[in-house]
Amino acid sequence: KEDIEFLKGCLKSYPDFPNKGILFQDIFSLLSQPEAFGKLKKLLVSRAKTVAPQIDVVVGLDSRGFLFGPIIALELGIPFLPVRKKGKLPGKVFTESYQLEYGEDILEMQDGVIKEGQKALIVDDLIATGGTMEAACKLVQRAGGSVSCCLVVIELTELRGREKLVAPVEYLMQY
Ligand code: 5GP
Repeated sequence: KEDIEFLKGCLKSYPDFPNKGILFQDIFSLLSQPEAFGKLKKLLVSRAKTVAPQIDVVVGLDSRGFLFGPIIALELGIPFLPVRKKGKLPGKVFTESYQLEYGEDILEMQDGVIKEGQKALIVDDLIATGGTMEAACKLVQRAGGSVSCCLVVIELTELRGREKLVAPVEYLMQY
């Protein structure tokens, strides 16, 4: 509880970035402060252990999910797997498109990295509309896995992203 308040105090937000009307939560402001980063790491790892004790893999989303997913996977001693923007992953991939505010984007996951029936914890820095997380959940399922939980540092509640998802969403901070 205190640690969450401390993190909220350390987080910097920027109005009208990258577009007018958007309040951008700058997750890197937590990484630039070692005390905040340390607390954040501790909280994420303990949350991952409690919400999804039986998970087999950690899936991180391009690109800020790559800051936190590998730390959690390493602490749990399980594989870290990336979901990336189109064209970045070698070999055979699964592809899923999703809506952005303007237009659409495409996410990919490698074929063969998840074994049939494995349980995944998906990690990203922030959930807004939930479109990115929804596409990632579909990729994990198409790869043969199931999603136990989606874990984010920040949930923007007004955009109701969690309603798009079947899997539960866990957060450290809500705005
Ligand atoms: P969604 O698909 O839920 O609308 O958007 C979530 C994705 O956009 C995440 O991958 C997240 O990194 C990025 N994103 C959207 N808004 C913000 C923000 O205010 N701060 C940061 N750090 N990322 C954001």
